Amino acid sequence: MSQLNRQPIAIISDHADPAAEVVKQDVGGQNVYVRNIGEALAKLGWQVDMFTRKVNPNDAKIVQHSPHCRTIRLSAGPEEFIPKNELFAYMPEFLEAFLKFQNKEGTNYPLVHTNYWLSGWVGLQLQELRNIQLVHTHHSLGIVKYQAAGYQPPIAKTRLGIEKQILEQANCVVATSPQEQEALRKLVSEAGEIKVISGGTDISNFRLLSKTEARLKLGFDQTEHIVLYVGRFDPRKGVETLLQACANCQAKSLGNFRLVIAGGEDPHSEGDREDERIKLLAQKLELTENILFTGRLNHDILPFYYAAADVCVVPSYYEPFGLVAIEAMACGTPVVASNVGGLKFTVIPEETGLLVPPHDVAGFAAAIDRILTDDVWAKKIRKQASLRVRHNFSWAYVAGQLSDLYRCLLARSIMNEQLWHLHLPTHWSTNASNVEVSPVRSTKLGKVS
Ligand code: UDP
Repeated sequence: MSQLNRQPIAIISDHADPAAEVVKQDVGGQNVYVRNIGEALAKLGWQVDMFTRKVNPNDAKIVQHSPHCRTIRLSAGPEEFIPKNELFAYMPEFLEAFLKFQNKEGTNYPLVHTNYWLSGWVGLQLQELRNIQLVHTHHSLGIVKYQAAGYQPPIAKTRLGIEKQILEQANCVVATSPQEQEALRKLVSEAGEIKVISGGTDISNFRLLSKTEARLKLGFDQTEHIVLYVGRFDPRKGVETLLQACANCQAKSLGNFRLVIAGGEDPHSEGDREDERIKLLAQKLELTENILFTGRLNHDILPFYYAAADVCVVPSYYEPFGLVAIEAMACGTPVVASNVGGLKFTVIPEETGLLVPPHDVAGFAAAIDRILTDDVWAKKIRKQASLRVRHNFSWAYVAGQLSDLYRCLLARSIMNEQLWHLHLPTHWSTNASNVEVSPVRSTKLGKVS
């Protein structure tokens, strides 16, 4: 694609602002994913506009990330944080703001990639109004999340209905792992197109670093056993399983043991304050002296934490993909993870880490001990883990697959349009006023290979 002739595409991420800094409390995997695919797609020749809801009147309306990639913050409802479970009411306003922006700029996005079900709803409305190709990534699937959590919020029914509609009506749903694809098929709908394209990581940042140097830089003891957790404080992340496992593992009883918890309190958490609960539990388990709570860390320093750790634990009860696991592996750190969702796809047991059933405290303790006590094996894992990420999970590789998918959908849309014209019955004239045209005639295409 030439610089002058770039195809504009819109990426919509209602609540996860791609321009937000990762040190902000409520920033997670979706923000990182959207920002990185946006930038990587721009490098591949697309004109990328990423849309999100404005949550702070002081935030810039438009943030230019690179010459052909920007974030546009749309006003929809009060310019303040609103919990995800209450955001649906503001989505019609978001849609209106999106259309207004599009008209003002004189742009028509032929392809819209939505993220999370709220943005997916916006995509479905756009599909009704315009001839667009709709691609969707879920990031979190209601049905699986509610099963894992064992409860449903009042918005659940609406969300589940819309997630089904998205799968059946979008031109393609991107599943970030074969496990997510299976869940979509079995639990959401047998109809609709799905393509597996994983999440990724910045392999120039998350890379092999010397453990000795990383520990020196961070002021950690060279002889300590270090277990690392990185992530948001959210009940589905299973931090309590990790704490209980650490309290029960042999390494802890032998001393010289540290649990580093990078992440931090979420002032907007939609339930009990998870950070308080975790700190109280740490006290009860007599772990407080072994734990270092670092708060949120940015991506410049995080690679050193991964490199300094002997093992990174991802004890989630539900994890659609799990960027943290591949960031750790990219830095050569063995991962002990729950055998759920995308973690079953990214972590190869015995080769890049170990998988344990969620909630299994004894299983996590044993897996942590195994990695901490087998140096030779841990070194082998280091190489295998970093290679796996370099080969399969760079953003450039992920964006390349998305780019191919977009091209394929757009090409078919043009082809369908032409075929549709060719197949007009001969007694119809193309400008006849009695020709009824379905506004979505070219949105349902054949299978995406
Ligand atoms: N993260 C970060 N600093 C922290 C904690 C987390 O930058 O202190 C980042 C982490 O590096 C990863 C993202 O937040 O890129 C979390 O993504 P993941 O898919 O693991 O979890 P999610 O937030 O989507 O549940």
